[in-house]
Amino acid sequence: MNFVKTCMLLLVHFSGFSCFSQSASYNVVIKNISVIDVQNSKIIPEQTIYIKADRISKIEKYKRHKKIVSDTIIDGTGKFILPGFWDMHIHICWKDNLHNLFPILLNYGVTGVRDMGGDVNILNRFKKQVKNNPVSGPVIFGAGPILDGEEPVHADFSVPMTQLNTRKVLDSLYAQKIDFIKVYSLLPKSVLDSIAAYAKEKNIPFAGHISEYLTPEEASESGQKSFEHLNRLEELYDDKNRFIAFTKLARSHKTWICPTLIIYKRKVEFAKKEFFAHDLYNDLDNDIKNEWEQVKKTKQNKIFTEEEALRAEERYKKQKLLVRKFYDKGIPLLIGTDFAGIQFVYPGFSLHEEMDLLQSIGIPPFAILKMATLNPAIFLGIRESYGTVEKKKMADLIILDENPISDIRNTLKINTVVKAGKIVNSK
Ligand SMILES: [Zn+2]
Repeated sequence: MNFVKTCMLLLVHFSGFSCFSQSASYNVVIKNISVIDVQNSKIIPEQTIYIKADRISKIEKYKRHKKIVSDTIIDGTGKFILPGFWDMHIHICWKDNLHNLFPILLNYGVTGVRDMGGDVNILNRFKKQVKNNPVSGPVIFGAGPILDGEEPVHADFSVPMTQLNTRKVLDSLYAQKIDFIKVYSLLPKSVLDSIAAYAKEKNIPFAGHISEYLTPEEASESGQKSFEHLNRLEELYDDKNRFIAFTKLARSHKTWICPTLIIYKRKVEFAKKEFFAHDLYNDLDNDIKNEWEQVKKTKQNKIFTEEEALRAEERYKKQKLLVRKFYDKGIPLLIGTDFAGIQFVYPGFSLHEEMDLLQSIGIPPFAILKMATLNPAIFLGIRESYGTVEKKKMADLIILDENPISDIRNTLKINTVVKAGKIVNSK
């Protein structure tokens, strides 16, 4: 009786699913679906994907008459499946209640995040929560606090670093099992050198802003694993020879770039006194809303001359071209939103905005999807379990109603999200 009821409920919730009374071999089977192969940039049609526990246990060519025994069968006819997305620049581990936003991330297909600065205790608490209950949120990699100069940009979430405290701070964070060290804009070169040496010694990456006291070339040579935003990189734009030399250097040092174009788009909008409103606003934490309203008020009261607005626009155009040039030169790119780092960027949704911006500068959808899926898995060293739709990998998956290769904006046409083998969102 209960089982029938469960089936009925499932049928109500997820039309197109069916239930069987036999004991099931698989939790979820998705039949006759087109797989987006982000590694080889191709679409593999008519596949059936078998999920057992939290992993993909088998993928085979769809056979119309094959009897499938599974708790849940999803008819993937006309649909597309791809690995879950990673927001590689987010700030979600700095306040106790921000796990309330996890379901939003999952709803938008964000099944993994790299937290770029917050509170190490909250980070560890959230990581534990997701480990114990994988459907409750995205997989989290995080840095804990931001390491900045003696007078940090963001006093609340930063540790002011000097030559004297470097070892002690790093030992403490390392003991608290951070995944990487987040470096910021005002770190003196001597301190950054010590951080680089520590990172090498302990085999832990460091990533973040390029320090104002270093050139992009020096930062790449130091071994900094990723550059966030386009700070300092803009100076390469007008010097063609330097740009080419830099890209060679960055490739040889395996430097990644997470451009977060969306934050520059927002800055242009702010200069025009536009503040992007989305339904998600209502779901945000009060502290976040208050900060946004504060910024909105300040910008609204500020007098932007037409020239200033134009200059912001020009700069944004250059920033977009710069990202395109990095892509053309084979610099590995990551996709991040900087949610809670900049106002009016929304959790989950803005990752799709970022992908749309990358499409607008001519980067092909396959490459963009790779940046949001396989690249993060490579970057984080978890390629064995994440980043592609393949046998033995984690079943963190997104089913789309429309083809994202014909238009990246179709990534918003989400039919179902699967996290760790369980359906977390279905329309
Ligand atoms: Zn940030």
